[in-house]
Order: sequence, then C-alpha cells, then structure tokens
Amino acid sequence: MVQPVARPSGMPGRDCPRCPRLVAFRKTWREREPDWFNAPVDSFGPVDARLLIVGLAPGLRGANRTGRPFTGDYAGDLLYATLLKFGLARGSYQAKADDGLELLDCRITNAVRCVPPENKPTPEEIATCRDFLAATIKEMPRLNAVLALGRIAHEAFVAASGARRSQFPFGHGRSHKLGALTLVDSYHCSRYNTNTGVLTPQMFHDVVAQARAAARSSDGGEKRV
Ligand code: SF4
Repeated sequence: MVQPVARPSGMPGRDCPRCPRLVAFRKTWREREPDWFNAPVDSFGPVDARLLIVGLAPGLRGANRTGRPFTGDYAGDLLYATLLKFGLARGSYQAKADDGLELLDCRITNAVRCVPPENKPTPEEIATCRDFLAATIKEMPRLNAVLALGRIAHEAFVAASGARRSQFPFGHGRSHKLGALTLVDSYHCSRYNTNTGVLTPQMFHDVVAQARAAARSSDGGEKRV
C-alpha cells in the first residue's frame, strides 16, 4: 500500500518507508557502512533559484555516502566543474558535503532520492518518489528552467508537471515549454556516457549554458505542478 508523503515538502524523512526494495537496500548499507549517509538525499542549493537540475538517483558511493547530490562520484566532478565555470557555483568542489561549495541561482535534486541497487530504480519507485520531486518544484517560487540529466529525470519531471510524456520526447539539447517552465534535456553526465563519447565535456558545457540562459530569460509565472 502506498504510504502518505511523510512531509508536505520536497524533503522525505530520513526513514521514508515508501519503497520497500530501496528501504531494504538502505538498511543493508547502514549496517555495512555506518559512517555513510545512507538515507534519502535532499536537494542542494537555494530554494529561490531559477534553475533546477534533476538527476536520476544518488550513486552508492557518491551522494549516498556523502549526503549531497552528485558529490563524491565521477558525475559530480563534471557537473560541479561545469557549474563553477558558468558562475552557477562558488567555492571549491572537493567531493564532500562540507567543502563549503555554494550554488548560485541553481539547485540540484534527484528524481529518486534513495540509492537504488545497480543505479537502476524501478518504474514504480520513480513514480512513488515523484511526489517529492513535485513538491520540490512547487516550493521554488522563482523557478524558470529545469535541466534534466538523462531520460529518466526528463520523464519524471514531465510526469510531475502533469503533462503527457508522449508530447515531450527526450533529446539531448532539446528544449520544451511546460507551462511557465522551460525544460532542457541533457544526456546524463555519467562516467559511462563520457567514456563512450555519448556526452563530451563540450556538449555538457553547451547544454548547461542553454539551461542557464533559459532560467534567466523566462518570465516565470504560475507553474503546472
Ligand atoms: S525513493 Fe523516495 S519515495 Fe522511495 S523510499 Fe526513498 S525517499 Fe521515499
């Protein structure tokens, strides 16, 4: 049975019980690595940001270990270096949650807040965690643009917006209008995608610049979520 949302915000509780498989995985890793974060990873960055970056889910040894999205694994190296390059972050990224890095007019979240086995959440888990994604979008009063990292993040955002997925096909560099929000798609900045040349650093720089421009140029207004 689906449990009610623990809190009416974009922050699931540390022991969110809604996805039994992920709860069991979390428990296993709490026992195995008691010093790791091992809990739903909250969004990072100011709530009044105009740009929201949506990833897939915490990496086991990345965000699940450190407690901050994209922190501690390869995807974070490329993402944070790019945000620093484009003035969307300030400080120095040192792959740990207390490195003092600050996001500027930009926030990062994940479509699924708990680490999934083999980095693969099930469709049901993605749908279950969507309430938190929708709440995250809703609680951002100035949000203008969303950068989706990968197809799953794209589809989760479209569904959270109440739109039909078939109307908004995913494509790297593609831009969509959903109500007052602009959705920009990117391939995920994973090690696999960059090692195989699916996503080059230049492609990623270009799409982040595109999303930043969309966040700064949109008028804002009533959101559909
Ligand atoms: S993935 Fe989301 S809905 Fe599922 S247990 Fe974690 S926080 Fe709760």
